[in-house]
Amino acid sequence: MFEQLGLIGCGLMGGSFALAMKKAGLVKRVVGYSKSPSTTERARSMGVIDSEAPSALQAVSGSDIVLLAVPVAATEATLKAIRHLITPNMLIMDVGSTKRNVVDAARRVLRDQVGVFVPAHPIAGKEQSGVEHADADLYAGKQLILTPIERTLTVQLQKAQELWTALGCHVLKMSPESHDAAYAAVSHLPHLIAFALMNAISSQEHGRDYLSLAGPGFRDFTRIAASDPTMWRDVLIANREELLAQSKIFQRNLQKFEQLIASDNYELLEGMIEQASQTRAHWRMSGGKKN
Ligand code: NAP
Repeated sequence: MFEQLGLIGCGLMGGSFALAMKKAGLVKRVVGYSKSPSTTERARSMGVIDSEAPSALQAVSGSDIVLLAVPVAATEATLKAIRHLITPNMLIMDVGSTKRNVVDAARRVLRDQVGVFVPAHPIAGKEQSGVEHADADLYAGKQLILTPIERTLTVQLQKAQELWTALGCHVLKMSPESHDAAYAAVSHLPHLIAFALMNAISSQEHGRDYLSLAGPGFRDFTRIAASDPTMWRDVLIANREELLAQSKIFQRNLQKFEQLIASDNYELLEGMIEQASQTRAHWRMSGGKKN
């Protein structure tokens, strides 16, 4: 049980964490800070936080657990703003979708204190951002990736693992580099493709008419194109090397498909679709459907 959660970033992810901690009886009090006072005020009126802090530093004051739930590009400035009040017993975590840049920022800013910071990425979320979409059950049954570094304190890592497990998450540990490589392939590239596809269609002369005719397959495929622009701008740029490498692999595969279609190669085209279909079916059976 924690005494006080200092929540920095009272949006979808931070608000959901506060609600989940309260629902699980893991925290007595939540003090929140967000960039706009109106957001923090809304979080308080919704019961997501118990009191508003006028600065990130004051949200940390008196807290034994701190969660950064801000856009990944704001991590470094946020850590700088709070570092003077960090104590050795605090557990500090983030929920950023990229991990190498977050860990680099933590190393630069926290230096000797970096051991109290446990980088985390919940594989959960929604297209809608903002505290009004916060949900106490957002994390239940989802994967949670921890990316500790060599200096992460064992005791803080253990606390983080127990906490997310108590919120119903399946906790995995990996290096920040492995995390960014994997999520470039299974999250950042799919978002990039969904954004590009929507723009490719809507920029055509008859694009809007085509969109009005689209069915459930298109709806499923493009759901993530409705995601928050600021958050995704930061994620795509923060993980640019891994993402661009994945994009090249994707383009090579797309070209293979195009060549087979252009040359009427029914047999190989069917084989390539069969391979994709089997991989998808196997992914669902091996647990992919829970995400
Ligand atoms: P969100 O709903 O937009 O919430 C972000 C919050 O951070 C907002 O309340 C915003 O305040 C606040 N904020 C922005 N810059 C700040 C700063 N410099 N200092 C203090 N507060 C600041 O976004 P979210 O979806 O919760 O995303 C938060 C983090 O979760 C991101 O790092 C993202 O990569 C990660 N994540 C998101 C998802 C997802 O599906 N959404 C999934 C996994 C991980 P204002 O309201 O005042 O602007």
